[in-house]
Amino acid sequence: MSRTIFINDRLVPEAEARISVFDHGLLYGDGVFEGLRSYAGRVFRLDAHLDRLWASARAICLEIPLAKEALAKAVIDTLAANGLEDGYIRLIVTRGAGTLGLDPNRCSNPQVIIIADTISLYPQEFYDQGLRIVTAATQRIQPAALSPRIKSLNYLNNIMAKLEGLRAGCVEALMLNHKGEVAECTGDNVFVVRSGRLLTPPPDAGILEGITRNAVMELAHAAGIDCREATLTRHDLYTADECFLTGTAAEVIPVVDIDGRAIGSGVPGPVTSRLKDDFHVLVRQ
Ligand code: PMP
Repeated sequence: MSRTIFINDRLVPEAEARISVFDHGLLYGDGVFEGLRSYAGRVFRLDAHLDRLWASARAICLEIPLAKEALAKAVIDTLAANGLEDGYIRLIVTRGAGTLGLDPNRCSNPQVIIIADTISLYPQEFYDQGLRIVTAATQRIQPAALSPRIKSLNYLNNIMAKLEGLRAGCVEALMLNHKGEVAECTGDNVFVVRSGRLLTPPPDAGILEGITRNAVMELAHAAGIDCREATLTRHDLYTADECFLTGTAAEVIPVVDIDGRAIGSGVPGPVTSRLKDDFHVLVRQ
C-alpha cells in the first residue's frame, strides 16, 4: 500500500518522496530522528518527542527548518493523510545535500521527513511469556565519543549489538557501557525490580533517555513503587526479581532470561505486569 509522506513542507505520495544521494544523512548518518506512536488518533507525548528531537539537533549544530508547532501539526496531518489512528511515526531531519567531504557547513537544506505506518509489534507471546536476551560484546558507544543521548541517524553501534542478539536467537541484546555497567538494550531501556524497588540506569550510564522510560518511572511513583536511577551491573540483573524493557515500539515487555540465567522465577513478575497494564491505560487516556 502506498503511503503519503511529509517531506519538507508538504505531503506527497511515497513515490515522490525523494532525497539527494548527496544528503549527509545518507553519506554520514548526519541527522537526527524520533520514533513516535499514536493511540486512538492521539500521539503519545508528542511534545516530549519534539523536545528530544530539538535537543539532539542542537547537540549536532543542526537547525531544524520548521517551528515546533509546525512540525507537531505536520505529524498530525501525516497520520490523518494515511488514515491511521493507531500508528508508528518516524520523524527524520537530515543535514541535507552537501559535498562528498564531511563539512556540514557546506550542506544546504536540511530535509524534514515524516513517515506514518502501522506498527509491527513483537508477537503477543513475548509479552505474555517474556523475552530471552543476551549481553552483546559490542559496548554502548562511549559518551565522550558520541553521546548516546543524541538520537542520531547513526545507529551502527546498536545494529552491531542487535546482530549479536539475533545470532543468539534473541530479538533484543543488552549493552554495557565502556565501564562495564548496564546501559540499555539496542532499542529499549532496561529496568529491574530488586526487593520491591524499581531500578534503571541513569542517563550518564550512556543511554538514550527514553520517553517510555520516563512515563514508566512516573507510573511507578503514582503506584507507590519506589523507583530510582542506579548504576547496575550484570550481576544486579542476573539476581533481580524481575526485569523488563521499555520503548516506543516495544512499550513494556518482560525479560525472563538473560545470558541463560532465569530472572526471578523465570516468568513475568507482578511489578512488570502492573506497569505494563498501567502503561496501556496511560497511552489511551
Ligand atoms: N534506547 C535506544 C537506543 C532507543 O533507540 C530507544 C527507542 N527510541 C529507546 C532507548 C527507548 O526510547 P523511547 O521510549 O523514547 O522510544
